[in-house]
Parts: sequence; C-alpha cells; structure tokens
Amino acid sequence: MKRRSIKKWIIGTLLIVMVISIGSCIGVKSQINHHLGAKTEIVDASVFKTLSNPIAITNVNVLSADCSKMTDSLTVLIKDGKIQSITEGNVISNEYTVIDGTGKYLIPGLIDTHAHLKKSKNDLLLYLANGVTGIAEMFGTKQHLAWRKEAEGGTLSPKIYVATTKVGSRKGLMRKIRKWFGAQHNYTTVKKAQKAVTKYKEQGYDAIKLSSFLSPEIYHAIVKEAKKQNIPTVGHLTYDVSLDDFYDSGQTQLAHIEEITKSTMTEFGGLYTDNTEDYLKYLNENADAIAIKLKENKIVISSTVWIIESFPKQKFDLDNFIKEIELEYVNPGIVEGSRMGKGWLPGNNSYENLEIKNDPERSKEVKVFWDAYAKAIHVMARALLKHNVTIIAGTDSNGACTVPGFSLHDELTSLSNVGLNNEQVLQTATRNAGEWMQNNTGRIEVGFDADLVLLNNNPLQDINNTRKIQSVIINGNLIDRSTLDKMLESVKNANDRSRKVSIDTHL
Ligand SMILES: [Zn+2]
Repeated sequence: MKRRSIKKWIIGTLLIVMVISIGSCIGVKSQINHHLGAKTEIVDASVFKTLSNPIAITNVNVLSADCSKMTDSLTVLIKDGKIQSITEGNVISNEYTVIDGTGKYLIPGLIDTHAHLKKSKNDLLLYLANGVTGIAEMFGTKQHLAWRKEAEGGTLSPKIYVATTKVGSRKGLMRKIRKWFGAQHNYTTVKKAQKAVTKYKEQGYDAIKLSSFLSPEIYHAIVKEAKKQNIPTVGHLTYDVSLDDFYDSGQTQLAHIEEITKSTMTEFGGLYTDNTEDYLKYLNENADAIAIKLKENKIVISSTVWIIESFPKQKFDLDNFIKEIELEYVNPGIVEGSRMGKGWLPGNNSYENLEIKNDPERSKEVKVFWDAYAKAIHVMARALLKHNVTIIAGTDSNGACTVPGFSLHDELTSLSNVGLNNEQVLQTATRNAGEWMQNNTGRIEVGFDADLVLLNNNPLQDINNTRKIQSVIINGNLIDRSTLDKMLESVKNANDRSRKVSIDTHL
C-alpha cells in the first residue's frame, strides 16, 4: 500500500471510531435522561389558579408551634406571603378573602428533608398536592438551582433546599467518565476539595452532600473548610470514618438513620443471616451512648424509615407490594428505568431478589437478614427519640417505590409505628425540618412564611389525617381541593402519554 493510502486509511478509521464513540455517548446520555425523567411531558403549572393573599382563615383549629396542641376558634390573617396575625377576634377588613375554617385543622406545610427530583419537574406538583411545601434535594444540580430560582420567582412549587451532587474521593478514569454522566464528583487532594467547597458555595448551594466514599483525609478537609465558609455538610457517613471520628467532625446532618446502624454493623464485624440476634443485642446495648453523642454534637438525623421497611417487601413480594403505592403518579422514566439502570417494576427493580425468589429456604434466610436490618433502624430511632436528638422527616423520594409527595405521609406513619407520638411525628416534618432548613417555615407563628395545610381531620388524633387535605397554602396563596385534584390528574395524564411500558397490571 502506498504511504498516502495508509494515511487515508488511518484517518478514515479514526473518524469512524470518533463518530461511533460520540454516537454511543449521546445514546447513553439519552438513556440516562429518559431514566431520570427528562423525557416525560411537562405539565404547565401556570394553568393552576391559586387564591392570592391577603387571606383570612376564620374559626379554625391551629396547631401550636411546638405541635403539642390544637387551639380552636382562631382567625389567621395572611398577607404578603407571611402569617400576619393569629387572634381570637373576628374583625377583618374587606381586602381579605375569607376562608371558613370551621371544623378544619391548620398545620404548617410539610417538609420532606430527603428528596430526589432528578429531572422530573412534575414532581413539584406532586409535593404540593400532598401538602409538602418544602423539600430538600439531596443530589442537587444546576438545574435544581434553576428550579429553586423559579420557585422564588413565584411559580407553583414547594420551596427547594438544594444540597450539592454527592461528593467523594474515588480515583481513576471511570470517575471522570461517570461525572460526565451525572454521577458523584470526586476530589482527590485536599486543595481540590477546599476549592470545590468555595465553588459550591459561590454557585448558591445550601449544603455540601457527602457520599459514603470519602477518604478520612478528604472528608475532614471538606467538613472543616465548609464550616469555615459557613455552609453545612450533610449526607452519608463515609465508610472510612468511624462514629467516634464522626461525632465532633463538624458534619451537621446525617441523611438516614441507616447511616448510624450501618456503622454499628461494621463495628460489630458485619451483619449476616446467622448473627442477627447477636447484632441487635449489641445495637441495643450501644444505641443510648450513640444517641447521647449525637445530641451533644447537635447532629440532626433525617429519618428515611419507610424505604428501609420496604426493602424486604420489594425484595420478596414486589408484585403485591407495588400495588400498594401510587405508581401512576411517578415519572414513567424513573419507573421504567433504562439500559443504564433498573427502574421499579417487577423483573426490573434493583431491590428485587430474583435469584432466590423461587427458593423458599434461601428466601427465608435472606429475609431474616433484611428484617433485622429494618429492626435496627427502629432500635436506633427509639434511642434518638429517648435522648432528644433532632429527627427530621425524610423519604429518599424517587428511590425505588418511594413516590414523591405521597411518601412523606407513609414516612410519618412509619415514625408513628416506631414509637413517636403524633406531636413528635408532626415536629419532624414541620418545626424540626424548618429549623434545619433555616428558611422561616415549619411553624404557625406571626412573621413565618405562610406555607400551610388545611386538614379535614385532626392529625394529633390520628397521624394518617395528614393525608386528608382540604387546601394547601404556599407563600400565602391558597390552592383548593379541586385544583389539587386537577394537578394530580394532569401529572397522571402526562405520565400516561409518555409511557413506553404499561403499568396496568401493577395498579
Ligand atoms: Zn438519597
């Protein structure tokens, strides 16, 4: 072959390789976008009409700021997006639209402190329709910062607290490739980690989200730098840092009770199917001391109990379990998954244990493990409660079978089953969560933002009454029941038009 034709051949081959590589990258990105919910038809939120403030809610039962009691026959005035007054009197000037609150119960808007919006914008309507007026996005991107800005500008949305994308310190080429596709960001030197904190702070994130994969050196560097720059560090407890090294590290929040129990499992030498009793005994003996340390260091814990309780059900009985959730409202991309990852449906769900599904003996054994895993969360939650550690309600929404908005009510039921009384359960999703987010929400007090839920029944009597929503107020503007229903219906219809896989047999 002549030299010129060899050159042509090489250039030609390189071009083909390049085109194939770019093509497959675009293909992969498109798959991921579908999976994250970006391809679902978006509902136009501006079509839903709200009743603008000033608003007066008269003769209503109002939840006290500490969530301990309802005070009856009050009038709550709302103006400029804030709670203006709470009085017994009833003299109202005619600039206010009057809402008769007779027989109704007014509580602060609920807050989910562990949400994942992914690229699924319709979820914002699901939250509002469920009385969730505040969420913390725990794997934030610039897109979520933009949604937060839109919400601040007055579009119909819960308030959004945005923690960064997960931060780790993994090495290697794959981490760079994964980063391009949206996976966690890794920093391998102290200098780079410190610079990253500055960058995230400048970009406007509310907190730095820590992953499980941080070396002690980088972990402590990030937490220290973040403390210096006054931005909270939240999220996981890295595998390489023990509880003893964690308590006074400066990390202010743990994203799951599970982070604590996982660490105790490591200390114990691992949880296996044949040592569950011994491990639970060990945890019972140590839980008080752990809770006391967490309290001393003012560490706040997001609950995410329900999702853990769902693991055994998803693993061994998904066909029945999936019928219990509000699957029709979930973004179809997230339900269906993609070639890049599993979704929620039987046969394609990352929790489901297909290998042992038809092996009753093995199945029984593995179930013992997962039941103990969930039991550990309950043990730890009760110790947190006993020692007044601040618990905030979180769901890990859009994690398998955890439906945005609806799941917060499931979480409250789980917390009630764990042993919190209704007053304490309400605190986790209102006062405690609002204080943690520092955004002037979570209480019905003068000067607080008017993010509220009007309920038909008293949640102090039965925590499931948080589901009986008459209307939702966000930034002082009221969304009535028929509009909330329309919002849900619109999301469901948009989902149905966007589905590639039918869910009819799972409803
Ligand atoms: Zn999460």
